[in-house]
Amino acid sequence: MRPRNRTLGRVAMLSAALSFMCLAACGHPSSSEGSAQGTGAPQAATFPPAPAPETTGGFDGARAYKHVEQLVAIGPHPAGSEGIRRAQDYIVAQLKSFGCLVEEQDFHAPSTPVGDVAMKNIVAKIPSANPNIILYGSHYDTKRIANFVGADDAGSSTGVLLELARLLCARKNAETIWLAFFDGEEAFNPNWADPDNTYGSRQLAASLALSGDLRRVKAMILVDMVGPTNPVFRRETNSTPWLTDILWSTAARLGYGRIFVNDGAEIEDDHLSFLKRNVPAADIIDLDVPYWHTTQDTLDKVDPRTLAITGHVLIESVPELEKRVK
Ligand SMILES: [Zn+2]
Repeated sequence: MRPRNRTLGRVAMLSAALSFMCLAACGHPSSSEGSAQGTGAPQAATFPPAPAPETTGGFDGARAYKHVEQLVAIGPHPAGSEGIRRAQDYIVAQLKSFGCLVEEQDFHAPSTPVGDVAMKNIVAKIPSANPNIILYGSHYDTKRIANFVGADDAGSSTGVLLELARLLCARKNAETIWLAFFDGEEAFNPNWADPDNTYGSRQLAASLALSGDLRRVKAMILVDMVGPTNPVFRRETNSTPWLTDILWSTAARLGYGRIFVNDGAEIEDDHLSFLKRNVPAADIIDLDVPYWHTTQDTLDKVDPRTLAITGHVLIESVPELEKRVK
């Protein structure tokens, strides 16, 4: 994903500038970060544990964190790599262990900057009598940077979506719910320039348009980089306002109003693949972190409490979404 700085608010721009200054001026790793860098080795927990699941709508932040730990332990897993096959095996095995119906959707991205790349979207489908679909999404590929394990980007959101799947697959829902794990969100080139990005979400949206199922998707909710400590989730300005409203008002009701804030930021991400096809979509993301797309995006940056807060908002907003899309 990429921030569109020209539309960021003043606070966000200042914060981005500070992040950049910190990268330039104080970005040397601490010794513990240095030793684990590139190995994907688990590091000592930096943050307090996640709250008890009874306090976060049944969503278990510790379980979500465990998934992040496992994905980081795989090491780098960019699209087309040996590592991503292990990440796929892990995600599929976890979903099946939750009793989810899992579809592995293999496809080729024929003209990436590195040539033809085999990719796989993984979609857990929870049927219901109602044909309308609520679609959750996260990418699971990591950016093609040497030694980059992507604990926050994309481990955190993948862990949250897996834990959400555990809850949703085990119960009856009023609407059909799909959870999509996208391959190939990251650009192969160092910089983000269309069409070298969002391969997986574009593929899913295109295939659903072809089959006619896309019109059944009434809401698409993307999570990406939901692991930092002291997170700030701004309203992503491309997102569909009513959908953002449901998520942000749920957060406010749960007491997370200082985390899900009302100022805006424009981010290009997997939700655009659906917005461009007129599917209401929203993105929950905190891109304002100094370690973004650096080898410092390691497990010690992921706060289990942030995973729990994100999951709490997602699970508690389901009834409101179901009312809206029925
Ligand atoms: Zn990224």
